[in-house]
Amino acid sequence: MAFAQQLIAWQRRHGRHGLPWQGTRDPYRIWLSEVMLQQTQVATVIPYYQRFVRRFPDVGALARASEDDVLALWSGLGYYARGRNLHRAARLIAEQGFPRTALDIAELPGVGRSTAAAIAVFAYGERAAILDGNAKRVLARAFGVERDEKLWALAERLLPKRGIERYTQALMDLGATLCSRLAPSCERCPVVRACVARRDERVAELPAPRKRRALPQKDVQWLVLRRNGAVLLERRPSSGIWGGLWCFPELTGRAPAGAKRLSPIEHGFTHFRLRIRPLLLKSGSEPYLNRARTPISWMTFAQAEAAALPAPVRTLLGRLGEGVR
Ligand code: SF4
Repeated sequence: MAFAQQLIAWQRRHGRHGLPWQGTRDPYRIWLSEVMLQQTQVATVIPYYQRFVRRFPDVGALARASEDDVLALWSGLGYYARGRNLHRAARLIAEQGFPRTALDIAELPGVGRSTAAAIAVFAYGERAAILDGNAKRVLARAFGVERDEKLWALAERLLPKRGIERYTQALMDLGATLCSRLAPSCERCPVVRACVARRDERVAELPAPRKRRALPQKDVQWLVLRRNGAVLLERRPSSGIWGGLWCFPELTGRAPAGAKRLSPIEHGFTHFRLRIRPLLLKSGSEPYLNRARTPISWMTFAQAEAAALPAPVRTLLGRLGEGVR
């Protein structure tokens, strides 16, 4: 049996069924789920997806929302550029309609070649090849292929004439379940007998890991100002990290006299590590703020929790809030 047919048969019996974005051809819902699934696992995405479609049942509702509302609902999913791009793309789609082919879908902000293909497959049944992390791992191992260009060509060659939706889902499911990165369950895999990596004992080597560089570290100081049970947060400019999210103001230069140092927080980005040193100041220290930069707001803990916050701000609020709530 051909590779695609084996995967299709396997998916029917052992793949993931009944996910909230399955069983629809609505390109809006499929696009939303595929963007959320970039870099994030299914179990994490499900409640976010459900909240989004309840609040924004169609692309028009999402396009009319403010960026602040979208980011607040995205808060906790990470990779906030995805949330901002989602909102920008919603406005384009509301004006121009949803693009109809993988090539055109790939023009939307925040949608790469593989995501566009997945959307075109599930919404329109287009025969387009995906190569997300899961599909790449399965194909690299099953066929013993290393280079990305070769993998794309292989992914296209393997596309079945019929059943493209189930085949695409099968690649995602096999990579997410049996063909995992560290401990694949080859004995239950539908293509184990033809798998090159298994035959040549190269499972651990494929796909070739990206070269790891030592990540540079950046240090920042955060000012923690409290007044009557509220904290001062500022909205970051839309370019740069955490654009549009609410953060503690940053302080450049020396810590003011009387500032109390709190335990640092470490946060990893793709290209660097951030060490955050929070400084607790008494209220009345607002002159230390560079007021020309961004909007600021005093928020109660409850207000802050409902706002669009990056993870380290949430962590710090959690620490500060112990004993307050
Ligand atoms: S046999 Fe193992 S390594 Fe090969 S595709 Fe299946 S799960 Fe992956």
